Amino acid sequence: MSSPIGYLKGVGPQRAELLQKELGIFTFNDLLQHYPFRHVDKTKITFIAALAPGEEYVQVAGLLSPLEQIGERRVRRLTAQVRDRTGVLELVWFQSISLIQKMIQPGQAYLVYGKVSFFMGKPQIVHPEMELWDPEKLKGKDYLEPVYPSTEKLKAKNLGGRQIGKLAGVLMQHLSERDLPENLPPGMREALRLMPRFEAFRNIHFPRTNALYEAAVRRLKFEEIFFAQLRMNLLRWERHRFSKGVVFEKVGDLFNRFYKECLPFELTSAQKRVLKEIRIDTGRGKQMNRLLQGDVGSGKTIVALLNMLLAADNGFQAVLMAPTEILARQHFQGIKELLEPLPVEVAILTGTTKGKERRLLLERLAAGGVHILIGTHAVIEDPVRFSNLGLVIIDEQHRFGVAQRARLWDKAPIPPHVLVMTATPIPRTLAMTAYGDLDYSVIDELPPGRKPIQTVHRYENDRSLVMDFLKAEIALGRQVYIIFPLIEESEKLDYENLMQGYDVIKTYFPEPQYWISMVHGKMPAFQKEENMRRFVTHDTQIMVSTTVIEVGVNVPNASVMLIESSEKFGLSQLHQLRGRVGRGAEKSYCILLTGKKLGNEARERMKIMTSTNNGFVIAEKDLELRGPGDIEGTRQSGMLSFRLVDIVNDRAMVEVAKQQCEQILKDDPDLSKPEHAVLKDFLRSQNGKTAWSKIS
Ligand code: ADP
Ligand code: MG
Repeated sequence: MSSPIGYLKGVGPQRAELLQKELGIFTFNDLLQHYPFRHVDKTKITFIAALAPGEEYVQVAGLLSPLEQIGERRVRRLTAQVRDRTGVLELVWFQSISLIQKMIQPGQAYLVYGKVSFFMGKPQIVHPEMELWDPEKLKGKDYLEPVYPSTEKLKAKNLGGRQIGKLAGVLMQHLSERDLPENLPPGMREALRLMPRFEAFRNIHFPRTNALYEAAVRRLKFEEIFFAQLRMNLLRWERHRFSKGVVFEKVGDLFNRFYKECLPFELTSAQKRVLKEIRIDTGRGKQMNRLLQGDVGSGKTIVALLNMLLAADNGFQAVLMAPTEILARQHFQGIKELLEPLPVEVAILTGTTKGKERRLLLERLAAGGVHILIGTHAVIEDPVRFSNLGLVIIDEQHRFGVAQRARLWDKAPIPPHVLVMTATPIPRTLAMTAYGDLDYSVIDELPPGRKPIQTVHRYENDRSLVMDFLKAEIALGRQVYIIFPLIEESEKLDYENLMQGYDVIKTYFPEPQYWISMVHGKMPAFQKEENMRRFVTHDTQIMVSTTVIEVGVNVPNASVMLIESSEKFGLSQLHQLRGRVGRGAEKSYCILLTGKKLGNEARERMKIMTSTNNGFVIAEKDLELRGPGDIEGTRQSGMLSFRLVDIVNDRAMVEVAKQQCEQILKDDPDLSKPEHAVLKDFLRSQNGKTAWSKIS
């Protein structure tokens, strides 16, 4: 299966090179996994008179007229007609004209295949696939003929979607069951009624019926998702069993005193559950690697804090990393206040910690004089040394790359426990597929007494009314956010767009009655911080900004989130922005302002936003609307690039595969039982061929 594609009969060095370049087909195996995107019933020939709009791909048989070249240079094209008993079909070529002229023989009968379109009411096929008509060939064709993805370059070299099928046919003839051995345990395959593997490969290419094709796809999809999950789970199991981790063995004074004396509220049952999960994880001598998901405002920080106290109780230092300076400062102030009565040393380290202050802090850290360090990515820079680092908590992880996380490992002799917290709502199906190697916790409950944010959709021509509403809220002593989208490729255009918006806002809110903070990406960091600070301290009532505040500040007094050109935002972004309000005692509002004309998808997004506040529901919808490729943090990872599986539409199958995996590993974590040997063999044969091993 790993033979170079050039060894296949009918390929040769030239075509091999093209297949590699154009389609990434290097080996027999690559060709086998270059699946057809449709099948043609070769025995079905349509009469030209019966061609109708909307029919798409058809096969027609008839006599070919002479070729005719029309136009000059860029509009040059080649045309011909094919005629059967019932009518005439126009054929058009724009490319490879001289090649076509050489190959095609006017006056002969041809079998013509392609996508029909209608031009001035007449049917035509652009760049048809042509084959000399041979009725003998139709006999004995008891399978549906596959059509493969191809490219113009390949088509010009006679490697169109159908010709690739011929190669696949040659390959299939050479293969036997031994080349494609079954890789699922027999019991499982039967229980799930999956087609045997070899048969599935044959039927995904050359099925006799549609039903067989579908069964083949189902089998191969299952295999794909099952092994992906098995690998992830094995990584996790291996870590559970073999990794070394520091032990937080006791719940000590700090934790207990804080819990009894300082905690300003009762924990929700979801928070308690997650804490218990963390307790178990950090107490058994293995490294914890846990993803904690919880909607905006669900109370992740307090869970992080209790976890850090647990570390301190056991003599370890803990770090909390935040994506921005302002967020780090907020965490620092909040946590310092909460820990006031306790003998816990808390410090902050960011890019702006400089000079003597910085030097002294680094010394204290290395000597163990600091228990909890809060900061930005500055905390993982080289000069930072710890005396006894036991826990690292990363808030909003998608701003920190895998490589940055890895830099923590050499900050302690035994790798510290890691808790990754995120409010970016990733649907469960996706989380367990993309982060299957991390353990997963979720806070799926908001603290009691939250007033739901009221979300409304308003059109541009209601702007005055909307601004009046903002004024009324400000008159009540509240603050408001006004957010502009980042839409253009160029920062300059975005900047101009924001400035125009700002000018409009200013006409509604003139100084000195109103003061506005503005923050945007082109602003120097210190100015950004200063403008944010003025809003936090209520020096300004209005924050005008691009999405830079998406992850960030906590201003409980802010009660209105106005989002300009809302149609330009994705669902999860809108939800994140909305999460900036509704943090105080006052009733809060989110206003989605859009233009009059909305596309269907944008309209759908507005509908979803105004109908639910639940981040997980929104995440699921987002996935349905946009597909998994766009979910933040998974894009670069390539973790979700499946050949056949579509995480959204195949969710049910993903779930089944997950259960199967868990069941198998529960009974047999080494895959040492004889019936699991096939799994082990297959995984071993795949080693080095996938990117899975790179996942941290
Ligand atoms: P996020 O999960 O978005 O990081 P935070 O940790 O910032 O949320 O919490 C949001 C707000 O909810 C904070 O003001 C916090 O003090 C409060 N909070 C957290 N847990 C509870 C609880 N169990 N009961 C009441 N308020 C809580
Ligand atoms: Mg938070």
